[in-house]
Amino acid sequence: MSAEASEGAESCSADPAGADAAPWYKDGLQFTCTQCGDCCTGAPGVVWVTDDELREIADYLGKPIGEIRLFHTRLIRGRMSLTEFANGDCTFFDPRGRKCTVYRARPVQCRTWPFWNSHLASAQAWQNVCEKCPGSGEGAFFSLEQIKERASRIDM
Ligand code: SF4
Repeated sequence: MSAEASEGAESCSADPAGADAAPWYKDGLQFTCTQCGDCCTGAPGVVWVTDDELREIADYLGKPIGEIRLFHTRLIRGRMSLTEFANGDCTFFDPRGRKCTVYRARPVQCRTWPFWNSHLASAQAWQNVCEKCPGSGEGAFFSLEQIKERASRIDM
């Protein structure tokens, strides 16, 4: 699961380049998901979820929220995260179809990938993301404002 990057990045500020300085990505960045599924699988990680997000997933699947909480979440340092199988795959990932089964109700952490502050902290950090996510650095253009809006929605 992709969020292993978050483990050491929770203290990132909202604007890693400073409030006034233009960040290194001021001219925008590119991203289009190729649906490869790599960020939902593999190395262990965390996907933070709130009660509201769990409820959205439960409503989307037509299941009780208690069932979603029981089978798809775990507590990590007092916070709720989606859980994963022993191989690191998110329990909402369909390995045969290589797709997210709750894509329309996915949490903010998934919606804002790869524009997390930890990934934007430096050009090298972004390059590291591009090397493991084939959609990062390619495809659709995101302006500075669009990047900042996404990064501001989660502390990653
Ligand atoms: S292209 Fe990137 S964001 Fe899309 S599924 Fe693959 S690793 Fe995840």
